[in-house]
Amino acid sequence: MEKVLYKPKNGSYNLLMAFPACEEFALASLGYLWLFKTADELEGINAQRAATDSIPNLKNIDSIAFSMSFDFDFTGVFEILEKLNIPFYSRDRGEDYPLIFAGGPVITTNPRPYEAFFDFMLLGDGEDSFLEVLEILKNNTRQEALEKLKEIEGVYFAGRKTKKATVSLDNIIYTPILSDRSYFKDTFIIEVSRGCMNRCAFCTASYTNLPFRYYEYEKIIEAIDLGLKYTDKIALLGAQISAHPKFNEIMEYLEKKMDDNRNIELGISSLRTDSVSPQIVRTLVKGGQKHSTIAIEAASERLRKFINKNLKEEQILSAVQIARENGLKGLKIYSMIGIPNENEEDIEEFLRLAKLLKDNNKGFSIEFSFSSFVPKPQTPMQWAKREDNKSLEAKQKFLEKGLAKIGVKSKFSSIKWDYWQTVLSRGDSNLAPFLVEVYRCGGNSGAYKKALKALDIDVEKTIEGFCLEEALPWDIIENYPSKSLLKNEYQRLLKRI
Ligand code: SF4
Repeated sequence: MEKVLYKPKNGSYNLLMAFPACEEFALASLGYLWLFKTADELEGINAQRAATDSIPNLKNIDSIAFSMSFDFDFTGVFEILEKLNIPFYSRDRGEDYPLIFAGGPVITTNPRPYEAFFDFMLLGDGEDSFLEVLEILKNNTRQEALEKLKEIEGVYFAGRKTKKATVSLDNIIYTPILSDRSYFKDTFIIEVSRGCMNRCAFCTASYTNLPFRYYEYEKIIEAIDLGLKYTDKIALLGAQISAHPKFNEIMEYLEKKMDDNRNIELGISSLRTDSVSPQIVRTLVKGGQKHSTIAIEAASERLRKFINKNLKEEQILSAVQIARENGLKGLKIYSMIGIPNENEEDIEEFLRLAKLLKDNNKGFSIEFSFSSFVPKPQTPMQWAKREDNKSLEAKQKFLEKGLAKIGVKSKFSSIKWDYWQTVLSRGDSNLAPFLVEVYRCGGNSGAYKKALKALDIDVEKTIEGFCLEEALPWDIIENYPSKSLLKNEYQRLLKRI
């Protein structure tokens, strides 16, 4: 069942809002749902949702907007286009086909691998630019619209230098459609802040969303009250929500509601290690949370310094202690292997830290969760080399064994998939046929290998990294911070190692 928290309007311009995964995830994606609401509330637009497993029977689609959050989403884009009998490449689509465009974090970070498939793309925050795009689309012929769109901040046409859009956070964003079919069943998600001021050197959530912005306390409280009219499940979202200057007050407000016998199930994506406080943990526990996550990125302070994660070991120990003493049952500790310049001692540090945490927190569940380092565009690490899979696999084996011996659970992301993620995220427009071939071969990890062989293309550059002087595929985006600032930061960090 769905509860729609706004008044939809209708119109003759048929827009399909497509999510390149199944509907369960579409209904859990705050950004996608909010932009759908924007379109659905606009006079003159007939907005419909689509996902890979639910495509409405819509005659005469005028345009299709895709939201891409993950590097592997392109297979979902192709799946939907194929089901609609629409050619993948924009060059193969004539006037009779819908205009097809995309936005989202993947596109904002590096649109180059996807530019052959979309008529245009949206870079940066979508709230304002999407609305402007819709106004143009519904009021103009296709040709006129394409001309006028060039004037909109954040609208990217293949090969054209573009400044990404950045909005000030005035209108708070929350789940506009509650559904029991959502991955986060009936959960009212509220965006508390956007971006992160910490600027860890690998982090796109920080670097592609600068400056760090947050909503006014009053707006967050109003949104909580609105959500509680419809559901007991509230989730607060943001890369660094605890950096909100009134985060403790927001927690106090929720705690008071719970003390007044209001049943609230509270969800928070992860806690910032250096700001875990008794107030935050208590409220989470009252809100039914038993476990949470902190990110330390590396066990060795040397490597943390190098990636600008300026976290001291005392802060990690203290965060775990506060979590335990205030009622959580366990913590997941997120980290990476394969950070450039990582050596044997850095890896051994994980075992030392795990033992220390285990000994200090008897009966408290600690799990280490690892991924392998993926250098991302638009961060100071965009030039770095990715470590080869074999040596990463050896590190994984060593840690799995060592942590099991200490009695600490561990989980690893797939090193193969992290490798392909690197290829996709640092690729350029030459990747287009490769992406199509991967889809044709089934989209699994074997498909990537097969596609590489079939096309005889070389992706080594995306793995080996770039030198500081050369042009990068995504230089085409005018970003803040500029490339020269990223370069300075990278060089400053290299001196720390
Ligand atoms: S604290 Fe987390 S969100 Fe912030 S920059 Fe570091 S990794 Fe990114």
